[in-house]
Amino acid sequence: MAKKEGLIVIDRELCKGCYLCIAACPNKLIIISDELNQMGYYPAEYTEADSRTGDRVCNGCATCALVCPDLAIEVYRE
Ligand code: SF4
Ligand code: SF4
Repeated sequence: MAKKEGLIVIDRELCKGCYLCIAACPNKLIIISDELNQMGYYPAEYTEADSRTGDRVCNGCATCALVCPDLAIEVYRE
């Protein structure tokens, strides 16, 4: 069982929907929102879908934040 070591916060109004973060997350924790932001993009959205089982939890690696060209992602380590 993977241990949760981090979490991220995505500023949905800064996101321009490039989805680099979705491709980059090794644990597939980021999905596309089904609601537009004020700029007219479908922003990336953080999900902890499998946190109940401990699979696919955020390890705080910050890969998502590093690839984001719009600095829309903040990473918090626990
Ligand atoms: S990398 Fe940044 S701008 Fe691109 S989808 Fe993710 S949060 Fe949005
Ligand atoms: S910090 Fe790493 S594991 Fe957590 S959401 Fe970002 S890329 Fe995924």
